[in-house]
Amino acid sequence: MQTIDNFNFAGKKAIVRVDFNVPLNEEGKITDDTRIRGALPTLKKILNDGGALIIMSHMGKPKGKVNAKYSLSQIVDAVSAALGVAVKFAPDCAKAADAAAALKPGEVLLLENLRFYPEEEGKPVGIEKEDPAYEEAKKAMKASQKEFAKTLASYADCYVNDAFGTAHRKHASTAVIADYFDADHKMLGYLMEKEVKAVDNILKDIKRPFTAIMGGSKVSTKIGIIENLMDKVDNLILCGGMTYTFAKAQGGHVGQSICEEDKLQLALDIIAKAKAKGVNLVLGTDCVAADAFSNDANTQVVPANAIPDGWEGLDAGPETRKLFANAIKGAKTILWNGPAGVFEFDNFTAGSRAIADAIAEATANGAFSLIGGGDSVACINKFGMADQVSYISTGGGALLEAIEGKILPGIAAIRGEE
Ligand code: AMP
Repeated sequence: MQTIDNFNFAGKKAIVRVDFNVPLNEEGKITDDTRIRGALPTLKKILNDGGALIIMSHMGKPKGKVNAKYSLSQIVDAVSAALGVAVKFAPDCAKAADAAAALKPGEVLLLENLRFYPEEEGKPVGIEKEDPAYEEAKKAMKASQKEFAKTLASYADCYVNDAFGTAHRKHASTAVIADYFDADHKMLGYLMEKEVKAVDNILKDIKRPFTAIMGGSKVSTKIGIIENLMDKVDNLILCGGMTYTFAKAQGGHVGQSICEEDKLQLALDIIAKAKAKGVNLVLGTDCVAADAFSNDANTQVVPANAIPDGWEGLDAGPETRKLFANAIKGAKTILWNGPAGVFEFDNFTAGSRAIADAIAEATANGAFSLIGGGDSVACINKFGMADQVSYISTGGGALLEAIEGKILPGIAAIRGEE
């Protein structure tokens, strides 16, 4: 497989898929440029080699229509500043052949939002799945998606995918385009390589003990990952809102706590599976219950399986925090996805904080810790502890699918896998 380090971009034009889906404020100013900074090592390597860059990305969900609100023209100045090069802009990503052809080594062209074309995502527009003509429309769209990808590919000599955030999507720019380059002329960017390595660390090169912490609100959204991890982990901490589905399934009383009534059997199956596989399943024993879903609610610490009516568990209790910390501190591999409580409320952060502290301690003692999937990243950032863990993934859905053991189309397309 070709790698970015081995490829000499001198005199070449590289088309690079990045994730510049950055948040903008009302005035169209970038409020968080993490994603731009994340792609810089790849972009700079290409320019430093003496290559020319064609950058492509999506922004927001314009649903296949031109929409000024999602125009990438708004980030041209920021990308120019980050790269130290005056970036040119192609206002139509599918009609940029001349601009691309005119690029000289060291020059940069940013294409307009790929998702202004429905071909990018490849879903038929204006027709419902139930419509008898849907299958035909889907076939036609797949054909025009190939044409769209071919047009993008025609701008460049080689293709680099550095957009981990969309690696789980089989879109024109993330996967289909790779078919138009041979194996020596397509590769993953540095950010992608780092993400793939981090996932390999927790799925393949596991140092034991391995503790996974799954939190968040619901069992239903995490079940695929929990099942895949069950074959790999030594300790599995299930926390957050899931706690109460497990408590109720085992005959507990959970008051007003979030609870998935239709997942009680699933919870019992998970408990049985953990036992059969020798996985140490750690569930909360006590919780901080509140009399309202509010930061200012009255609180009391109660057993997680005996919550009074009118009260709801919003955070892990003190005994639970110790249990969690003990299962984390001795670990050599750690994965954290999902908070242990409603961390958005300052008064219900203690459980997540205890987890973050234990992860930081284990990491300082040589463990590999991966934090990823949306809210746990927000949580570690809220605590200002991002530099105390080994790796924070930039991918939400992509990371979760990778951990579930699914092959990501964006990576498979480069590696030539199906
Ligand atoms: P998820 O997107 O599934 O990872 O869920 C993250 C959300 O779960 C966060 O917004 C938390 O506020 C929420 N959460 C965590 N613990 C609880 C709880 N005990 N009750 C209600 N929501 C919770």
